[in-house]
Amino acid sequence: MICPLCAATVELEAQTCPACDLSLSEYAQVHYYPDLLFNDALRRVGRGQYAEACALLAQVCAWRPRDLEAIMLWATAAEGRGDDSESVRILLDALELDSGPAVHAAYNLALARLEDAAGPAQSVLLDLSAQLRDGIGRLEAMLEAGARSVPVPKPEPGAVGRESV
Ligand SMILES: [Zn+2]
Repeated sequence: MICPLCAATVELEAQTCPACDLSLSEYAQVHYYPDLLFNDALRRVGRGQYAEACALLAQVCAWRPRDLEAIMLWATAAEGRGDDSESVRILLDALELDSGPAVHAAYNLALARLEDAAGPAQSVLLDLSAQLRDGIGRLEAMLEAGARSVPVPKPEPGAVGRESV
């Protein structure tokens, strides 16, 4: 890690910064805090304490919104407590990070469970929202492709960078 006071590079295990002597134990705790929450949540999922696990994983994902492992465990915990729509919502977030086959399969399973639980009218709505999402995805891809083809203006030589003192 980087010492928050003097920016020296220090070992993660170091108790104090070798350059400025700052006590680092509190900073290390903050650094590891989401991991501790995650481990606690993992134990609770193992014990079937899904609601508690969901609360912990919501915190982990607030700290680390790109932590796919935590997001997937959160979806499992939401499913465990019988909240299929929450599970689908979480997996939709996961798909934005990783659209690989494992996340897709989990998402499709959760969606199927939700549809099984939902009445026919709700199924129609779910189909519509899935189609809408596909449409938005294609639109985003088109916009992205369009944006890439726009030439980026080159800066004037000498216009960038710091002025010399
Ligand atoms: Zn320092």
